[in-house]
Amino acid sequence: MASSAGTGGSSRGRSWNAAAAGAVRAVGFGAGALFTRTSTSSGDARQKGDDADTPSYANRDEILHTAEEIASVLGQDASTSNTPERAVAVVYPKTTEDVSAIARICNRRSVPMVPFGAGSSIEGNFSQPHSGICINFSNMDKILAFHPDDMDVVVQPGVNWVDLNNHIASSGLFAPMDPSPTATVGGMVSTNCSGTNAFRYGTMKDWVLNLTVVLADGTVIKTRRRPRKTSAGYNLTSLFVGAEGTLGVVTEATLKLAPIPQATSVAVVPFPTIHAAAAAATALIRSGIQLAALEIMDDRQMAILNSHGSPTVRKRHWAEQPTLFLKFSGTTESVQSDIARTSSLLHTLTTTTTTTTSDKSEPPPPFHFARTKQEEHDLWAARKEFLFTMTSLLPENHRMWSTDVAVPISRLAELITWSEEQCSSLGVFASVIGHTAALAGCVHEMMKRALDLEGTVSGEHAIGIGKKVCLVQELGEDTVEVMRRLKRAVDPKWVMNPGKVFDYR
Ligand SMILES: Cc1cc2nc3c(=O)[nH]c(=O)nc-3n(C[C@H](O)[C@H](O)[C@H](O)COP(=O)(O)OP(=O)(O)OC[C@H]3O[C@@H](n4cnc5c(N)ncnc54)[C@H](O)[C@@H]3O)c2cc1C
Repeated sequence: MASSAGTGGSSRGRSWNAAAAGAVRAVGFGAGALFTRTSTSSGDARQKGDDADTPSYANRDEILHTAEEIASVLGQDASTSNTPERAVAVVYPKTTEDVSAIARICNRRSVPMVPFGAGSSIEGNFSQPHSGICINFSNMDKILAFHPDDMDVVVQPGVNWVDLNNHIASSGLFAPMDPSPTATVGGMVSTNCSGTNAFRYGTMKDWVLNLTVVLADGTVIKTRRRPRKTSAGYNLTSLFVGAEGTLGVVTEATLKLAPIPQATSVAVVPFPTIHAAAAAATALIRSGIQLAALEIMDDRQMAILNSHGSPTVRKRHWAEQPTLFLKFSGTTESVQSDIARTSSLLHTLTTTTTTTTSDKSEPPPPFHFARTKQEEHDLWAARKEFLFTMTSLLPENHRMWSTDVAVPISRLAELITWSEEQCSSLGVFASVIGHTAALAGCVHEMMKRALDLEGTVSGEHAIGIGKKVCLVQELGEDTVEVMRRLKRAVDPKWVMNPGKVFDYR
């Protein structure tokens, strides 16, 4: 299980649709165990709320008794650990009924429950600030039904999206969301994730047909049935998408599927300034060309690819300029036509003559399209691998702080330029842990700046534990209070992933 604390890092030197590993981590697992208790230590673990702003939770001993009760109901074994701010026990349900039993017991005993998928979320989303029980979905990883003619699939929450796509590839269908390769459907639904494919395919909310959810008291509900459209009642599916496990536990999801495109291609285009790159991105979007993905990397990132990219990435010398990465998909004819239109549009926009090819003897073209499948893979690898390149560069005693914001496309260049200036004034790449407070201030300012530009404090990583204040700044107290009332309605004891999205008060 992954484990790290998300601190340190920058907006400069990272791609604007990328994400970094790192989140406040909690528990250790016994391999193959179906139930793991994590402490023999007695004593309280900051459960019982001692002020009105905190709900009252079971203490450590009570949580241990809860763990024993769940163990006996599920017929599993248990083991222990003793750090206060993490789960006292980890449970590994296999069925919706198991999850319902766990919820009933935890709710009765006021024990916090925190669902865990793959642990790839990066805002402390699955941390356990009030301890409690971790519900691990690694044993709920089955594809329950596949309906190729209806273009949907019913899965348990522990299904990994890469495995799912490999499994159904021969049908010509795929699930298009592409967050961390390790991510699972339960976590993807609960963070309303996206990824590089979001440009063409939208975000996770657009691909969920229905959910089976276990509420805090163990009640099992299904949000809707399987047709593509319905006007029957409230849209409860959307209520649970992006709720980060604070309203209930997803135990089944029916996902829409898309046809695998017949053809794809990739292009990279360097620009003299970030403003020129952003202007080109806007022009491309407005032209109606069906791009599959559109990513931007800054000059510093491109330089890092040259110096520290993987051997695949370093096959070419990259122009060390702000660069757009474009992906095309569709039929063979439509991709060719889109490439031709893009080429012509960019030709009129692009003033740079810096090459992206390794052959310096040719006059440098302003942009470069992949000519082979291998080249397509290699070009896109630069964008896909960047996070890992950055992680591998992290000096000892340094930590990475990865976060995300989103703004209307017309404000993108402003935000990137501002963030670059802020980070370079902090000397982010040279910063050590002692600079964390300054960096935190910088990240907070970035959020504020995104809001000033009519943006959002989280484009895809959700709120978790670290952005609760920012959520209030973005939406206002009244809106957050409506969320709070919704949570109280389904989780009056506040036991579902407490401490996330907003506070109890
Ligand atoms: C290398 C890397 C690249 C990434 N790239 C992207 C990207 O491009 N786009 C993007 O959006 N994200 C990205 N992420 C972030 C991450 O992959 C997503 O947030 C993903 O959706 C998390 O899935 P998970 O299974 O790891 O969930 P976890 O991290 O385990 O959990 C996430 C949240 O969902 C809750 N949860 C988990 N399972 C359930 C369930 N069954 N029911 C209810 N709640 C549940 C958890 O309590 C937690 O609040 C990236 C992360 C990494 C490390």
